[in-house]
Amino acid sequence: MSRFLLIGPPGAGKGTQAVLLSQMLSIPAISTGDIFRSNVKNETELGRLAKAFMDAGDNVPDSLTNELVRARLVEDDSVAGFLLDGYPRTVDQVRELDEFLASRDEALDLVIELVADPEVVIARLSKRATEQGRSDDTEAVVRHRLEVYAEQTEPLIDIYSSRGVLVKVDAIGTVEEVTARIADALAARGISVPEPDSAAG
Ligand code: ADP
Repeated sequence: MSRFLLIGPPGAGKGTQAVLLSQMLSIPAISTGDIFRSNVKNETELGRLAKAFMDAGDNVPDSLTNELVRARLVEDDSVAGFLLDGYPRTVDQVRELDEFLASRDEALDLVIELVADPEVVIARLSKRATEQGRSDDTEAVVRHRLEVYAEQTEPLIDIYSSRGVLVKVDAIGTVEEVTARIADALAARGISVPEPDSAAG
């Protein structure tokens, strides 16, 4: 039981929790947003193609995204398990991922939904815009990202819920509180999470 997906609106804290959980569970956190951002930063061809979509708050086309994730999932460190953050985020991406995992006799074991009120995430992201200067964190783009989430990603909640693999976790609270809630949700499903060590902060 070590193939996980963190899902939730922009600003719910997926990236932060993904890093902590990956340390606690000793599995890689795979964030498509981070991979795209590092490609933009390094001015690769992929970054050049993705940048306009990201800056507008739109999803990067599946033709660029699916292949990227497949390539990442065949790396050695992902064979025993992984924590996906930000992929899949469309119904088509779910289909792609299902097919890929099925070809290895695998499936997602658990989908953790971080639940957060839109007004709270808007406030969090405007703070992050000031602190980190992410080019897609302006209020207008954030509102658009929330719309894209509602239209294209929220349907995934029902899909995973009907498969019986969804758990909902309240994402409002401190980082530590939310991590503890996720650990409790995992424990309730028989997945034990070791206490974070000092290296994990
Ligand atoms: P957030 O969840 O806060 O929007 P992410 O880091 O997950 O932040 O994504 C940032 C941007 O990267 C998205 O707005 C989108 O343009 C692009 N992106 C990330 N993952 C995907 C994906 N699976 N499919 C399409 N676009 C993606």
